[in-house]
Amino acid sequence: MINAKGYGTKHSFTDLKPVQFEREEAGAHEVEIEVLYCGVCHSDIHQVKNEWSNTVYPCVPGHEIVGRVRKVGAHVKAHAVGDLVGVGCMIDSCRACAPCREGEENYCESPNSWLATYNGPMVPAKEAPNGENIYGRDNTFGGYSDVVVVKEDFVLAIPASLAPEAAAPILCAGVTTYSPLKQWGVKAGDKVGVLGFGGLGHMAAKLARAMGAEVTVFTRSKDKLELAQQLGVTGVLEDDDKALEKLASSFDFILSTVPEKHDVNPFIELLKRDATLCVVGALEPLKPIDNQELAFHRKRVAGSLIGSIAETREVLEFCAEHGIAPEIEIIPIQDVNDAYRKVEKADVHFRYVIDMASLKDEKSEFADI
Ligand SMILES: [Zn+2]
Ligand SMILES: [Zn+2]
Repeated sequence: MINAKGYGTKHSFTDLKPVQFEREEAGAHEVEIEVLYCGVCHSDIHQVKNEWSNTVYPCVPGHEIVGRVRKVGAHVKAHAVGDLVGVGCMIDSCRACAPCREGEENYCESPNSWLATYNGPMVPAKEAPNGENIYGRDNTFGGYSDVVVVKEDFVLAIPASLAPEAAAPILCAGVTTYSPLKQWGVKAGDKVGVLGFGGLGHMAAKLARAMGAEVTVFTRSKDKLELAQQLGVTGVLEDDDKALEKLASSFDFILSTVPEKHDVNPFIELLKRDATLCVVGALEPLKPIDNQELAFHRKRVAGSLIGSIAETREVLEFCAEHGIAPEIEIIPIQDVNDAYRKVEKADVHFRYVIDMASLKDEKSEFADI
């Protein structure tokens, strides 16, 4: 076994604290990675606080991991010791269902769906048919730790031109927005709207702009209007009715990155006939949708969940090629609870990334989990 240290919690109501635990040694097809950086995703906060009612405790979050390969199993071919690599939201899937065979593991239809980097299988044994668990484990521990062990085909090479700390958020925020932009065929000259201007939203804006689209971001925060300008996109306040009225029926595609229940109706009105508004931020019921607006103009509201391993590889290369990187603020792990509070208040520009070397400076004791 490998002794691992990190930050985690046993309950929904406490802050994250220093913890120690054991991980299995790398098997023949697995890679042991020393974690260098891990992004702070809004879904980490949802999970830590059990806001989706599916958290398995103890919880060690983190699924925007960049690190260096420290050891490889006997049959590993894709990665070597010393490689800079990344791990996103998934660490395994069934490999047998139709979506898996078609390279869309993020839509795995096996009884347990895919295996998440933390919090175990997406469908736990107690909710699976026959109570089965094809992965043989109910919980997994993520990247807020000094080491992870992952199957080689769920490990991504980080292109040399990307700074390791900036590559981390591409592994969730990047691919979650890249996948729908690609799926709905966003191309040069398209008008693309992005609802919500946080970690996901700012990546969506950068990616769509690099695809040649004319991008408008909708935000609740006045001071983010200037940040939009700095990124070369148009900023509009979400509640500026006059501005929204002028934009009616003008968008080819709108991506909503708002991470909670919200009203998409005012933005459906901004779509052209036949255009789609895709929701990636919220995993809960939205405010009721006015079907009259959809029906009268054959508009669509859709959803999309992260992206496949192939798309994660693609978005890393796309970012390297176009010189795109997330806007990040590096923090020591000891500041992670404060960072959560700021993310909840949307008071972050735009993604916190934990420098995992800070674990070595930990002054508190690491509790067993
Ligand atoms: Zn995430
Ligand atoms: Zn599958």
